[in-house]
Amino acid sequence: MKKIHVYPHTHWDYEWYFTSNESIIQLIYHMDEVMEALENGELETYLLDGQLSILEEYIKFIPSNFERVKKLVESGKLLIGPWYTQTDELIIDGESIVRNLFYGIKSASKYGDYLKIGYLPDSFGQTKDLPKILNGFDINRSIFWRGVANDVCPNREFIWKGEDDSSLLVYNIKNGYFYGGNLIYSDDVEKVEKTILDGSQTENILLPVGGDQRYVDFNLKERIAYYNESSKNNFEYVESDCNKFFDELEKSKDLIEVKGEFVNPSNSKIHRSIYSSRYDHKYLNDKIERKLIYHLEPLMVIAQNLGIDPKIEMIEEIWKKLLMNHAHDSACGCNSDKTNRSILARLIEADQLSYSACDYIIRKISESLNCSEEDNIILFNTLPHNREEVSKIIVTTKTKNFIIKDKVGNIIEHQLLERKREYAGSIKKDESQYDDSLYYYVSKVAIKCSLEPLSIEVLKVIQLEEEINIKEKASSNFIEDNFYKVEVVDGRINITDKISNRELKDCLYIEESGDDGDTYDYSPPEKQYDFRYNLDFKNAKVDINDGEIYKEIKISGEFKVPMNLKDREKNIRNTEIPYELILTLSNKEMVECHLEIDNKACDHRMRAILKTDIKSKESISDTSFGTIRRGNVPAHINDWRELGWKEEPSPIYPMLHFVGIEEKNKSVFMLAKGIKEYEVLEKSNIALTLFRSVGFLGKPDLIRRPGIASGNEFRYIETPDSQLKEKLKFKFAITINNEVNITKINKIWKNYSITIPNYQIQEINRFTNTLKYFVMHPLKDKLEEVKDIVDCNDLNDIVVTSIIPVDKNSFTVRFVNYTDKVIDGGNIKVSKGKSYEWVNMNNKEISNKENIDSSINIGKFKSGEIKTLKINI
Ligand SMILES: [Zn+2]
Repeated sequence: MKKIHVYPHTHWDYEWYFTSNESIIQLIYHMDEVMEALENGELETYLLDGQLSILEEYIKFIPSNFERVKKLVESGKLLIGPWYTQTDELIIDGESIVRNLFYGIKSASKYGDYLKIGYLPDSFGQTKDLPKILNGFDINRSIFWRGVANDVCPNREFIWKGEDDSSLLVYNIKNGYFYGGNLIYSDDVEKVEKTILDGSQTENILLPVGGDQRYVDFNLKERIAYYNESSKNNFEYVESDCNKFFDELEKSKDLIEVKGEFVNPSNSKIHRSIYSSRYDHKYLNDKIERKLIYHLEPLMVIAQNLGIDPKIEMIEEIWKKLLMNHAHDSACGCNSDKTNRSILARLIEADQLSYSACDYIIRKISESLNCSEEDNIILFNTLPHNREEVSKIIVTTKTKNFIIKDKVGNIIEHQLLERKREYAGSIKKDESQYDDSLYYYVSKVAIKCSLEPLSIEVLKVIQLEEEINIKEKASSNFIEDNFYKVEVVDGRINITDKISNRELKDCLYIEESGDDGDTYDYSPPEKQYDFRYNLDFKNAKVDINDGEIYKEIKISGEFKVPMNLKDREKNIRNTEIPYELILTLSNKEMVECHLEIDNKACDHRMRAILKTDIKSKESISDTSFGTIRRGNVPAHINDWRELGWKEEPSPIYPMLHFVGIEEKNKSVFMLAKGIKEYEVLEKSNIALTLFRSVGFLGKPDLIRRPGIASGNEFRYIETPDSQLKEKLKFKFAITINNEVNITKINKIWKNYSITIPNYQIQEINRFTNTLKYFVMHPLKDKLEEVKDIVDCNDLNDIVVTSIIPVDKNSFTVRFVNYTDKVIDGGNIKVSKGKSYEWVNMNNKEISNKENIDSSINIGKFKSGEIKTLKINI
């Protein structure tokens, strides 16, 4: 006999083809129904979609119902959390996913309790690191729908293992979170039972009754009775909840174990190529994630070590603003234009909040330092390792020329990149009335930094009256530093790795193709119209800036492409897209690429293609907390239609920050800021999808995705904004190595994408950042410089993913082993901590407190293992 655990729920997308304003009104009335049904005993329990943000929004509108909701949560009737939002798992940073749970659980605690199940009924694929993340919150049960390959695991119940032995008991709601709606609508009991039996290996089946923004089914008890009477299979239907279901499922023995990610479209749509919709949102989200994780939080730990309040409640509010954009539809960009506009507005708010918080604390610390005096430049290393590199900073001076010295008087090498003359007095219509003595210079310079881990470094600008002669270099067609030589010959880019003496000839171009898809998926036009253009840089203007420490090649011109799908059908390239590509070398072990275009065409996709000298059958890219290898030619790429799969299993994959390929002693990686999609093409060339421009939310019958339209199957919803006809910038870098050391690649990515915050003490230029215009008190008690708050220089093959202030007197450092081996992590040094303890991701102690004697041994790490250390100062 099978026991069918029926649970009532709603799936509540915060926004989608409707905006959050539209859905919150629906929620306000929906909650009346939910509370009434629970209070009157019409329903025993109700699952509020595993996320807290909608409840927080609800209480903002109807605060008088707080106690009523709390009572229902406390009595176990209304099930809430553990997530803050129904997060995407594949293009969102792992630290963001951790914060989503952390703040979800924290917000739920106001109401009493939270669901201890990783409930993600609709996310477009599951990261392989979810067992590690959920176990980090003492959660070992998981419910999801999409991504499990039928031929790998046909079962609904299985054990999902992380590479570090973390483990989840999974129930895969194979037929979707809405399938149980049939219990209400359909009297065809046999058909429903046949469907839910498929893949069921145990005596217990979970049946979700609910749907998108669906009303409460007040007749659930009646319908359960009807199914009990009508079942010919002797099934027992019970009104249950996910906890009760798992309590029974847990007794099952011999469930199969499965490892890895779930991104397969055999059973449900997975939208492999949604990672490149609304590139503009993805770029901004990536920028804010980096700002919060690698600037704001470590800066607040520096502040805290100086005795300044790290304002953790403020950080929480900024995080929540960002997490609102991580819900699966919101993050992926498959929304109506008006919804995408509100997402963009929230991203812009989160961006402003995060950079203003950084700007404020940097200035506060800088102006309060003991040694603080005019023309000091204070640099902040927010990473826990030494940084020896070239950084760009802004210097304001009265004189045109200056030198920069360190504290002991050594001259720090710098190179002028740009200089502007500005006026400090009141602006006037007639500039001839300006006072000559009120002019100043704003110079953008590259300087050679040498910074200790998680430290403050003070430099000094010395203004010079005399002129400095800048040596003009003979013009050439190449630039080189200690690692690479880059040249442009007849519009072709050649890159030589000087360490291994490998040359990639004619190695970088832009592929432009038609996109007949929608905001969910890329889809090529019909074969006979699928004209693809390999855009090189012939006839481009090439400018070289070959400075001592910072070198760049600027290539500018116009790409010629069809205006839209109609012109593409005729192979007419009638539209010019102006571009500028800047390739930079500054001894950073990479070639930095910065491409700006003004997109004037529709319905197309552009990808940056790197031709490599490697033959490889698989790619390596980073995931939430580790890396993954994926085959370049997936199984069933040729027979997926016959097998009835929901979409083509194209090798188009998500990445967070880097992707590469390797062959014996050779590797090539591409690093990116905000680009989230790649494909390894024939001949092992790497394609980064820069962007896709499409004009509809969802379309039916795509070549890569047959059948009904995604989104709303009954209507074409136009999304002209998603054509991205605007100026777009793309930032990526290329690094060539003799081996694959993934920890090193992570470090190179950090040095590439995490800038060095800095501040110059000066009063003449009040516009270096927005808040600079206002006067600010320095702290009453002067601050000493701090150095080496956390020094991870000596770690062996361990990645640090975050440094977070917990309260006024403690902070955490999170470590991960990215490799597939057991690693002895080694020691970190701590300059100020008194004691430490190991904690889980929810900051719960899992070891005894130990005193710190200058260094801490972080011990052995299993493959992929995450550990969080709490340091008390
Ligand atoms: Zn959804």
